[in-house]
Amino acid sequence: MTATALIISTSNPPRGALEQKVLKTGVFDRAIVCCNGEEVIAELEKQTIDMICWAFGQGDEPTDWLEALRINPAWADLPLLVFTKEGDQEHRLRGLELGACDSVTFVTPTAELAARIRGHIKRSEQISHLRNRRAELAQMALSDPLTGLGNRASFDLRLRQEIARSRRSGNSFGLMMIDIDHFKWFNDCYGHQAGDTILKSIAEVLSETVRDSDVACRYGGEEFAIILPGATTASAKRLAERLHQAISVLSQDLWHNELALTASIGLTCFDGSRLAGCGELIGEADAALYRAKDNGRNCTEVFVPETPQLPLAFDYALHEQAPLQAH
Ligand code: GH3
Ligand code: MG
Ligand code: MG
Repeated sequence: MTATALIISTSNPPRGALEQKVLKTGVFDRAIVCCNGEEVIAELEKQTIDMICWAFGQGDEPTDWLEALRINPAWADLPLLVFTKEGDQEHRLRGLELGACDSVTFVTPTAELAARIRGHIKRSEQISHLRNRRAELAQMALSDPLTGLGNRASFDLRLRQEIARSRRSGNSFGLMMIDIDHFKWFNDCYGHQAGDTILKSIAEVLSETVRDSDVACRYGGEEFAIILPGATTASAKRLAERLHQAISVLSQDLWHNELALTASIGLTCFDGSRLAGCGELIGEADAALYRAKDNGRNCTEVFVPETPQLPLAFDYALHEQAPLQAH
């Protein structure tokens, strides 16, 4: 494995001297010397750097490069080692305050320098490893292992975000619940592995048919949900139609018309103007889905809100009786 040090030296000591000192530790195969912030950023963008060695003294306050290091996740774990003149307590402390992992002097013995550098590089590798692992776990926590789509937790998160966005902007979005028809029958006849293959194929069909901005998730079992940012009822219905078509093509590919794989779809739209949360919207899409099942399956139904029933005339008899009944 090759290791590269990036040396920042604007004035003292002579650049070649620090380069020699760092290479002499035997930790690095290469040292790149930069004398200003732009060069530092350019070198960091060009290649993998294992440590930054910064010769820090009078007139060397950092420019943008230090800020760029801290905000870029790819560079945030890079160990920064400050080199100061012996006895220059001011810059030693200032360097540590600015985020250096350690400070040494231009005359620190080579063996000690090498030990410190190795320790810092090792720690930085461990931090990077943990950071990557955490990102992997976060990804796993939100994805469905069978289909690779977002899972229920991811769906809940995205739906909450979309409702909040819609409330702020007034832009509408669609919510679609998709349930495979007679899926238990496929499982019972062909086994659960065949059932799993169908679930994966349906997930691929959904991913291929929706737009990049749409969010397709596995809601649970043989049920999928799609959030359609910016969709109206009309555009969501057109997508539902394309999904029925695509599932029918999948069915033909799988069984050449001997079996029919279909799905029922329930649809609702939200434009931020009414009081509804995740539960209400899922309930609406579900109600539409059950209507689609009742209507013979393999079709899409749109949620229609019930119109509140207003009394045609005030019922005086009922009104007058009510307090009497209470006694
Ligand atoms: P309907 O048309 O009314 O939706 O009927 P259905 O048979 O699709 O619905 P039901 O709810 O009766 O059955 C759903 C089946 O989905 C039952 C369950 O075993 C199966 N299932 C749920 N999750 C998985 C899974 O991860 N893999 C497989 N192979 N089957 C699953
Ligand atoms: Mg179901
Ligand atoms: Mg089903």
